[in-house]
Amino acid sequence: MEEIVSRWEEILKSFTEEYEISNVSYESWIKPLEILQIKDNTIYLVYNNETTDSFAINYITKKFQFPLKTTIAELLGKEYDIIIVSTDQASKIKAENNIKLTIEEEINNKESSEIGNSTINPKFTFENFVVGRNNRFAQTAALAVAESPGEFYNPLYIYGGPGLGKTHLMLAIGNYIASQNPNTSILYVTSEEFTNEVIENLRTNNNATAMQRFRDKYRTVDVLMVDDIQFIIGKEATQEEFFHTFNALHAMGKQIVISSDKPPKDMETLDDRFKSRFDMGLMADIGYPDYETRMAILNKKIEEKNFTLDEEIRKYIAENIQSNIREIEGALNKLIAFSRLEKADITMEIAERELQNFISPNISREVTPQLIIEVVAEHFNITVDQMASKNRSSSVVRPRQIAMYLCNQMTDSSLKSIGILLGGRDHTTIIHGANKIEEEVKADENTKNLVETIKKKINPN
Ligand code: ADP
Ligand code: MG
Repeated sequence: MEEIVSRWEEILKSFTEEYEISNVSYESWIKPLEILQIKDNTIYLVYNNETTDSFAINYITKKFQFPLKTTIAELLGKEYDIIIVSTDQASKIKAENNIKLTIEEEINNKESSEIGNSTINPKFTFENFVVGRNNRFAQTAALAVAESPGEFYNPLYIYGGPGLGKTHLMLAIGNYIASQNPNTSILYVTSEEFTNEVIENLRTNNNATAMQRFRDKYRTVDVLMVDDIQFIIGKEATQEEFFHTFNALHAMGKQIVISSDKPPKDMETLDDRFKSRFDMGLMADIGYPDYETRMAILNKKIEEKNFTLDEEIRKYIAENIQSNIREIEGALNKLIAFSRLEKADITMEIAERELQNFISPNISREVTPQLIIEVVAEHFNITVDQMASKNRSSSVVRPRQIAMYLCNQMTDSSLKSIGILLGGRDHTTIIHGANKIEEEVKADENTKNLVETIKKKINPN
């Protein structure tokens, strides 16, 4: 697996030369092929090119599947089957496997390792989690759970604002347990994934086998981690299913780890049954990092990314971005991207200019439709290009509509210009999308929470 991933570029290059693939053909068909997963000698490739129609996939499969297979066999001395899927199919496969693929910046793109029956991004560990006053308790609690799953603190409930390290700590627990005891079955899901599976089950008309499969999946694990539980609260059926899952696992002494943006007592619509269940375990909050911690985290990320950055600029970032580590990282990534693209070292002047959106000393940063679209895309782990694409899958349509709503609500931009940014959509489409979310916000606590979370990300002040 690792070898294919690490040699993927070489494989494509050699393939292109051997089969004399033209430049345009390479750009259109070959370059967008990314490794989704490798399973039982089959390589699943996603054609990551914003297309929803099956034409391209059919075509690439017919034309390149066999040649690719041959090249790989020649280079690696082993035969693999190749299946090419669309991004939509890829999301389904990912949901099935509960793979949390970080479709992050190309920078720092490392591959995920198999853990139990799910896949947890190995990038997030205790080793690279910087401990400061704000997160020491949570880090200690997480480590204790990682060392003795199911024994002392069950459930572990981690809460705190966005971008402060909750997901990092959860994944660190998963990675730690997997390294200590590879046979442990660990399941990490976002609450959106959990909800989608419950809904999917209901849609199949309470089909008994589907339900059984769902239960087998969730009730046979040793460690269940549900990230951002606030999005489950208020969704009747999902909440009910989670309650039973929780009880079943807890009764068997299996470890449960939950994260949320607030403590149970502040979740107004949280069922009292949950409050008492959660009280049985340990609550750990993560607060805002102080300057030293922000600096230490920034230094760590710079080191991980093999980048060099003047002390003065590091200070500038750590001083100005205070309430969200994800933004510190985003700022750093922006500088790295700039420096690679322009082949230039970062000066203070460049940093100030490039980081305007992250840092605006004295003035609060300007909320633009562009910024909103970026933040929404990041929240849903999709790209800005997907937001503007013709892609109609629900995993893209909903974020897009949320962006329409927020652009309309938070900026003075005209519907027309919002439409242009979102891929040339006309004003009726924007109004329709914005209204739809507005209705949902009124009727549904989850959407309201979701929208509020995203708003905070857009404008933390
Ligand atoms: P949350 O789940 O709370 O919204 P994440 O866990 O996704 O936040 O953290 C956002 C980013 O900040 C991640 O890339 C994570 O690695 C980084 N991060 C947060 N806290 C720390 C820390 N203490 N040390 C190192 N990286 C951190
Ligand atoms: Mg998170």
